[in-house]
Amino acid sequence: EAEIIDGRAHAEDVRREVREKAAKMKATHGITPGLAVVLVGNDPASEVYVRSKGKQAVDAGMNSFEFRLAESTTRDELLCLIERLNTDPEVHGILVQLPLPKHLPSTLVINAIDPRKDVDGFHIANVGMVGTGQDAIVPCTPLGCMLMLRAYHPDLRGKTALVIGHSNVVGKPMARLLLNADCTVMIAHKSSTNIPELARLADIVVVAAGVPGLVKADWIKPGATVIDVGINRVPAPELGLQEDSSARTKIVGDVDFNGVSRVAGAITPVPGGVGPMTIACLLANTLSACCHLSGIDDSPFQID
Ligand code: NAD
Repeated sequence: EAEIIDGRAHAEDVRREVREKAAKMKATHGITPGLAVVLVGNDPASEVYVRSKGKQAVDAGMNSFEFRLAESTTRDELLCLIERLNTDPEVHGILVQLPLPKHLPSTLVINAIDPRKDVDGFHIANVGMVGTGQDAIVPCTPLGCMLMLRAYHPDLRGKTALVIGHSNVVGKPMARLLLNADCTVMIAHKSSTNIPELARLADIVVVAAGVPGLVKADWIKPGATVIDVGINRVPAPELGLQEDSSARTKIVGDVDFNGVSRVAGAITPVPGGVGPMTIACLLANTLSACCHLSGIDDSPFQID
């Protein structure tokens, strides 16, 4: 029976460290780390994320600056705001909530952020630096996965890892971080034809595919560590007849949790695994960016 990796507890540890370091920063240097979150349009899921990010930043003792722009915002208006935030000394982290409305070019917008303030780690400079093993801002979800993996495998060298999913947000940066840690890394995606065989070789499986129940028990090497990044809303008939139809759904990951947890050595649950760590890592990245921009060597979170 696998050990359950408690993402909420790990996230609380990260938040506590951020809170302490932010308080010290204020007391010793008079600097309050500031996070600016930009939301364009009114996608309900994005609204929830943005609210939660702002609240957690404030709880950690940081300043939160929220910018809610109309769906009709033009490219130039958005770039103008980013330029203002780039030069604002009170802002140390800038996050543009994705997805942007279709008429806005996300790559161009993300690359307009000062890479030192790019707390999502999506700017091409950060992507390139992570890819070449240099110090950089690491995307929050893969950073959270690495911090949890590190707690179970202090030495990742020589471990065989499979990453399922190759998005720019999760799969690719995850694979690069595992490679930087000297794992032997395999990357699978929707065109891969032999994922079960690859998975059976892996000491570590990280799945970010967005396919509920994709990873089955007979794919998993006994004792392997399984990190489930997936967040999928599925019908939950067992919840019975409820007035509100959204109450008849539940969130599941990409792993058949009941089956896989009988074979794996350790596994992250959904919810309560990678999700809580993602926002905690955003706070960690904001604090690190603040330290870096202020010339203070107190960056808290080492993954290699
Ligand atoms: P994406 O849709 O951009 O990419 C999905 C990836 O999975 C692609 O590389 C695709 O080739 C691959 N894939 C799709 N179907 C597959 C299959 N049947 N077999 C193998 N590979 C397959 O998604 P994303 O943004 O990388 O997110 C992936 C999942 O992780 C989603 O469920 C998303 O909600 C979740 N997510 C969670 C967090 C978090 O904080 N926990 C953060 C980001 C994303």
